[in-house]
Amino acid sequence: MPEAQVLIGGEWRPPLGGESLPVIDPSDGGAFGALARGTAEDVDAAVDAAHAALEGPWGRMTAAERGRLLARLSAAILEDGDSLAALEARDTGKPLAQGRADIVAAARYFEFYAGAADKVHGQTLPYQAGMTVLTLREPHGVTGHIVPWNYPAQIAGRSIGAALAMGNAVVVKPAEDACLSILRIGQLALEVGFPAGAINLVTGLGEEAGAALAGHPGIDHVSFTGSPETGSRVAAAAAGHHCPVTLELGGKSPQIVFADADLDDAVPVLTKAIVQNGGQTCSAGSRVLVERPVYDEVVGRLSERFAGLEAGPWDADLDCGPMISETQRDRIENYLARAAGDGLRPAAQGRIAANAAPGGYFVAPQLFVDVPPDHPLAQEEVFGPVLAVLPFRDEAEAVKLANGTDYGLVAGVWTRDGGRQMRLARALRSGQVFVNNYGAGGGVELPFGGVKKSGYGREKGFEALYGFSVLKTVVLQHG
Ligand code: NAD
Repeated sequence: MPEAQVLIGGEWRPPLGGESLPVIDPSDGGAFGALARGTAEDVDAAVDAAHAALEGPWGRMTAAERGRLLARLSAAILEDGDSLAALEARDTGKPLAQGRADIVAAARYFEFYAGAADKVHGQTLPYQAGMTVLTLREPHGVTGHIVPWNYPAQIAGRSIGAALAMGNAVVVKPAEDACLSILRIGQLALEVGFPAGAINLVTGLGEEAGAALAGHPGIDHVSFTGSPETGSRVAAAAAGHHCPVTLELGGKSPQIVFADADLDDAVPVLTKAIVQNGGQTCSAGSRVLVERPVYDEVVGRLSERFAGLEAGPWDADLDCGPMISETQRDRIENYLARAAGDGLRPAAQGRIAANAAPGGYFVAPQLFVDVPPDHPLAQEEVFGPVLAVLPFRDEAEAVKLANGTDYGLVAGVWTRDGGRQMRLARALRSGQVFVNNYGAGGGVELPFGGVKKSGYGREKGFEALYGFSVLKTVVLQHG
């Protein structure tokens, strides 16, 4: 794909404002490319191109034809997997193995929605004599997708895969901090035969291209993943023209470890759930609540693991990479400075690799124990490799602590007691509950989304197809 260009109506071209943004390698802080700085005028053109696509070959395709194109795109992503994985890893700073996993997951989204495209059916409803009522699932029209930098390929795949399967034409505003994989996937989509205007990509700054997309009157649905503050702004902008919105806004997800849990199974998962992607995962397991009888043992085992963790450049493929940007690194360091000021010291911490470039945005993984439940480390989304561990006395206190933040995205429960598994699954205010396992970020098939400050609407799985379509009721009188 050409550098510093937007994809509109099937063609790459420079942004109308003529400006670009640097692509920064978070592992060393140096620039290694340029992105188009798209603005409101480019968004206007992209929305027009998407509407034109709905009137043209894209809008006339059958669901089976759309599914075939999505399957071809999935295969093309896998064929290009090695270079896409390296691109994703360098651009975001994530270890290469995580980059590979993300590209396979992105391909899987397109594969899943390829198979689902022609399997969304309406209903016929019993009604009055001499009448037939049926429902039709139709695309919204043009959908807007505002994507964050932490999993560019995966989050773009999950969001546009479902939207395209339902016959929408999409306008994507990827994140300015990392999005090269999305641009490459856009190019692959052209190569496998997606008609002009079905997929439009406008890179640029959030407050410019992002805000223009969220408030654009020609957009019929907006899907946003990112911070709660920006999510509120996006929802307010979309409300200006009564546009439905799906918001996925992160979390402070708890993992609850009871004394009867299999700790050999649990402890590696507890560690991975926060260290994966340097903790920059909306569903990171950033709080661990432990029943008192096994508290010291769990803290001991976690300490051992944290002491062995290493952060380093993407191509060193260590436990985690750098933070995405200087701003994010500083944000995390502010949390750590605040914790130190409050008398909290890490019980254990990993290290930064000796060969890590001084200009990289590294933060060593850190474990904090006995964190007071009202402390920011136990309440706020740090979005870094920082784990807070808290003790609890009994099931009731575990539920109270787990539900005691503003967020509700994912929760994990570790216990062998079947009754307790089910009670907790019901009592936790959370979009997903994992029992004796935890899936930060994974699971194409699993409906995903939050409650409370974590957002609303569901993506992933079959459920997303309902979110990316509207139901029409048709009432026929035939005597
Ligand atoms: P952000 O929410 O500001 O950015 C996410 C996306 O929204 C980007 O594409 C950005 O360009 C766009 N955007 C920004 N301002 C916009 C606006 N006014 N209108 C429309 N779009 C806009 O997130 P950030 O500043 O990159 O990160 C800050 C914090 O957000 C992180 O520390 C983390 O807590 C959270 N975050 C969460 C996720 C997640 O997966 N839930 C992802 C990224 C960041």
